[in-house]
Amino acid sequence: MDLADLNPSALMRQTLLGASRNTQLRTAVEKAPMSRDVVKRFVAGQDTDAAVRVASELVQSDRRVTIDYLGEDTLDPEQASATREAYLELLAALSEAGLTAEGQVEVSLKLSALGQFLGRDGHKMALENARAICQSAANSGTTVTLDMEDHTTTDPTLAALAELRQDWPWVGVALQAYLYRTEQDCRDLAHEGSRVRLCKGAYKQPESVAYQDKGDVDKSFVRCLKVLIEGEGYPMVASHDPRLVEIATVLADKARRAPDSYEFQMLHGIRPDEQLRLAADGHALRVYLPYGDDWYGYLVRRMAERPANLTFFLRGLATRG
Ligand SMILES: Cc1cc2nc3c(=O)[nH]c(=O)nc-3n(C[C@H](O)[C@H](O)[C@H](O)COP(=O)(O)OP(=O)(O)OC[C@H]3O[C@@H](n4cnc5c(N)ncnc54)[C@H](O)[C@@H]3O)c2cc1C
Repeated sequence: MDLADLNPSALMRQTLLGASRNTQLRTAVEKAPMSRDVVKRFVAGQDTDAAVRVASELVQSDRRVTIDYLGEDTLDPEQASATREAYLELLAALSEAGLTAEGQVEVSLKLSALGQFLGRDGHKMALENARAICQSAANSGTTVTLDMEDHTTTDPTLAALAELRQDWPWVGVALQAYLYRTEQDCRDLAHEGSRVRLCKGAYKQPESVAYQDKGDVDKSFVRCLKVLIEGEGYPMVASHDPRLVEIATVLADKARRAPDSYEFQMLHGIRPDEQLRLAADGHALRVYLPYGDDWYGYLVRRMAERPANLTFFLRGLATRG
């Protein structure tokens, strides 16, 4: 490759996404004393109480919430069970706090944290764990959305979605605009009752399956958005990108969608003023709120998306010596 072809921000993004799976780096960053403070901006805290407290604050400011118990790529059945139990405890606490009515606060799941990669029985185990969580969400009057991970998990996640929807038709899923296949997946899922979260996609993916250029990802996002907004389902527009938020608003107006027939979603700690503006303008706005100890992969993906997030992290490091 010619050096002139190198785009520094793309290169940094690739490097950071590689770092998100580097075990040695992970240990060093997790042990660094400043990490906890920096993490606070993006993560509710370590335990159920912290998640419920921050969710309650968000709801008081007219925002809805989806809570993610941090963790991914579990290769230990006990860890997968512990993740399921954490969700059950969380849903009980949310219900007790009166936060689950009408899906105000729901939960997001990563099937890899529930055992998806645990050998031949992985799919079955993840599905059983997800079933327990869906039943608990149903008892509490709220919903569940499946996060989407790297492209090798797309088919198994959509298969799990189809199975879960037989019992709980409100189970939603995230689709990633950077994958070539996603426009078709949107068409398949743009039916009545179907909840689809459209995001750009946060993992390092090969050219064989995904657009590499940001402009191409954005164009794909708009094509997918049109399919979802003109369809019969419930689109969840997950982006901080002002142009995409504006386009979604225009498309929803054109399709004469009622304000409660779609929603915007943003990550906790990112563009909070814009979150409040959208909510004040009468849009449904949901915040994705992670909590738990296992924040490393999540945080490194946030830094890969935006150099300013990395600067924030490094500044924290510098001021702590
Ligand atoms: C609710 C939610 C759920 C998600 N779930 C998944 C999932 O299941 N699977 C998955 O792969 N990915 C998921 N993601 C991550 C997503 O794929 C993107 O990686 C992430 O949202 C960044 O993309 P973006 O659309 O915000 O645009 P970017 O291309 O990162 O940013 C576009 C523009 O947005 C503005 N912006 C972005 N960040 C900031 C900031 N910190 N401050 C000010 N302006 C900013 C800037 O104008 C920037 O130019 C999710 C994202 C959200 C919001």
